[in-house]
Amino acid sequence: MTQTVTQTLDHLSLFRLPWNYADNGISWLEPTTKCNLRCEGCYRDLENPVHKTLAEARADLEVFKRLRKSDCMSIAGGDPLVYPEIVELVRMVKEMGWKPIINTNGVALTEDLLKDLKKAGAFGFTFHIDTSQNRPKAKDKTETELNEVRQYYAEMLAREGGLACSFNATVNDATLTEVPNLVKWAQDHADIVHTMVFILFRSPQLAGDYDCFADGQKLDLRTTYKQTNWGGSTNVYAADVVAKIREVDPLYAPAAYLNGTTNPESLKWLLANRIIFNGENLGYLSPRIMEMIQNVTHLFTGTYLAYASPKSTSRGKLLALLGSITDKDMRRIFGRLVGRMFANPANLFRAAHVQSMMVIQPVNFEEHGQQDMCDGCPDMTVHEGKLVWSCRLEELNKHGAFVTTASREPA
Ligand code: SF4
Repeated sequence: MTQTVTQTLDHLSLFRLPWNYADNGISWLEPTTKCNLRCEGCYRDLENPVHKTLAEARADLEVFKRLRKSDCMSIAGGDPLVYPEIVELVRMVKEMGWKPIINTNGVALTEDLLKDLKKAGAFGFTFHIDTSQNRPKAKDKTETELNEVRQYYAEMLAREGGLACSFNATVNDATLTEVPNLVKWAQDHADIVHTMVFILFRSPQLAGDYDCFADGQKLDLRTTYKQTNWGGSTNVYAADVVAKIREVDPLYAPAAYLNGTTNPESLKWLLANRIIFNGENLGYLSPRIMEMIQNVTHLFTGTYLAYASPKSTSRGKLLALLGSITDKDMRRIFGRLVGRMFANPANLFRAAHVQSMMVIQPVNFEEHGQQDMCDGCPDMTVHEGKLVWSCRLEELNKHGAFVTTASREPA
């Protein structure tokens, strides 16, 4: 049984991000498996938490240095803010040449820690906030009600200033209906919310009708993986999220993507960037301007751009002007901007913000159990000196090999 869905977007009309195994926008460091929350369906084994020593974390960073270029280093976990030497680690990541991005649930973040992290060189934060987490002060909240929590962190970062602010939300078939409310909330706060990411929930329960193997041995994943009903009853795909975003944002037009490893049509990472002016969406950056941004950045910095500073994202007017030289989609956005400035000259002095919206579709299964992963995975981490998918690290820890799948043998 194949779980491929019909795409609503023609991937070939978009820019294929040039990110690959050796030269990417992002890399992924995990200094700890300890966490202060228990998200439903978390893919990490949190029951036997371990912190790496700073020397071990440095050794992982040396592996990245040897094998892969990237603009940013996502510092994840576990939750990196419970890592006792997080400030020192952020300093190390910065000194070794990456933009440190802290991927956290935010629970352990205080104003003082934020100051220390910024001083150590933190470039930005990606906050994971959704209803799978049962957050202590936000139990029984809906995804929409959690916008309050998101806003708390966005304002905290804005007060400190100069930090990129992103939010991740895991989406399942029940919470899909709330995606429009998150898209609208992000639009209303484009001056302090720079990126919104929707990650589609995956679990062995929803994987389908396959036999699983590790190193040739048949496995029963139901006995080794914690089951959860949070994920609902069916897998959600990028196309489903696209349809939901369009309900509230008819202009939605993604510019770039990463395809699948077995299906070139799979939209594994789907990137859109809109220009927001005075709370109004003026349109989305075109595939062509994305191509220019990625290639020009690589030409001058040696790496592909993943996270931009708040200073850069507030230069939407300049970007629209530059884009209008070569691109009719960007000319349309620039025309709208000029119209707003004629209508009210005070608008000349107001910033237009570029806000990113990403949809991430982890593994899906093609015919005969072929696994479709993200081609050019940005979230590669280090395991025993090698670069491996961070979303499937637990398979190596538990089974010593990645799990393979094949059509189920008849009983
Ligand atoms: S392959 Fe897994 S770790 Fe890599 S980007 Fe996709 S979901 Fe993330």
